[in-house]
Amino acid sequence: MTDAVEGGVCVVGGLPASPFTIGLVGASNIAMTRMLPAFAALGIGVRGLYDNEPRRFRYWADSCVEGQTTNLDQLLSGDIDAVYISTRNDQHLAEAVAVAKAGKHILVEKPMTLSIADAQTMIDAATHNGVVLAVNHHLVASPLHVNGRQLVADGRIGNLVGARINNAGTLPAHLRGWRLSNAPGAGVILDLTVHDASVLNPLFGTTPLEITAMAATQPAWNDTSAADSVMTLIRYGPSSSGADRLAFAHDSFTVAAPSSYLEILGDQGAVIRDAMNQDTAGTVELHTSEGRAPVDVDCGDDLYQILLRAFRAAIHGEGQPTVTGTEGLLALQVALAAEQSAAEGRTVEISKLQLH
Ligand code: NDP
Repeated sequence: MTDAVEGGVCVVGGLPASPFTIGLVGASNIAMTRMLPAFAALGIGVRGLYDNEPRRFRYWADSCVEGQTTNLDQLLSGDIDAVYISTRNDQHLAEAVAVAKAGKHILVEKPMTLSIADAQTMIDAATHNGVVLAVNHHLVASPLHVNGRQLVADGRIGNLVGARINNAGTLPAHLRGWRLSNAPGAGVILDLTVHDASVLNPLFGTTPLEITAMAATQPAWNDTSAADSVMTLIRYGPSSSGADRLAFAHDSFTVAAPSSYLEILGDQGAVIRDAMNQDTAGTVELHTSEGRAPVDVDCGDDLYQILLRAFRAAIHGEGQPTVTGTEGLLALQVALAAEQSAAEGRTVEISKLQLH
């Protein structure tokens, strides 16, 4: 963890002050619990913390992050290279555009925005101002998912015909605020289904064509209109063999026994357990005509650090972020189509998806 402050920059015990410094937009739970440790482990300096609700700074009283402010311009005028945005989902767009205009690189939380048009606006703002835009979909570069995609690419499961995700558990009580409210950006689809899409899109490698989703509000503790459970079907465009492929995702905040798996379905099949978690502790199992065999995967790396290393490298002109703005938009597209499908009780064609 971070343990000292030098000139307003958090530094890590034993490591020198970082030449790469990031400002925080959002005094969030995820920033404190996942990203601060990841910044510290990589020697990334943290300078400044913005939130438009001062009461949210109370969690940060004992942190070493200095420069708490409710003035975004003040944070952006600081000596920082990049900004990590982890405010509520409906706030991301305006903040990211301001960050881009200030010439700072952007790591924005998922869902990047609440509409396709807004996602494109964010991408255009980054491009126009010459800054890197990355979306914090942490699962894509997980060794488990990289391995799954490699099994497919190597033809180890024959033709890929489908995939099935279960991404379900009980939403902790302290996270039932804006996620389960009547405010824009709430609900399980923009929280979890968008993550599912971030791993399904590169797995299939073709355009999602249409989506059918059914959503529900289940427990007594959810008295809002925000869905807490959803089952989604996605039709992906054809592979080289010419056949469409189908994916299914069950995302839920209401399931007592947590379940987190991805089944990659081919003529033979691969199964990844604990695939959709924030920590890499899962397993990959290959099913063939000879039976089931575990696949050796090194799960030692932290998912957020993997993503941060790619973000930092992209800023230095080396490669692309793990999830670019365009890839974030493609994941969002699936989630928004699922929202529309569930609301209207019909299948939604991605090509006819509402932009606003
Ligand atoms: P919040 O910061 O709003 O946190 C949710 C609730 O947790 C708050 O309402 C607050 O409850 C409580 N809380 C806030 N800060 C802390 C803290 N430091 N310690 C303990 N509890 C705290 O939202 P999230 O962090 O959940 O999400 C922010 C953004 O990040 C969203 O865009 C979300 O989609 C994204 N996200 C991304 C993840 C990823 O893996 N990429 C994972 C999680 C979120 P109260 O008000 O009752 O005190």
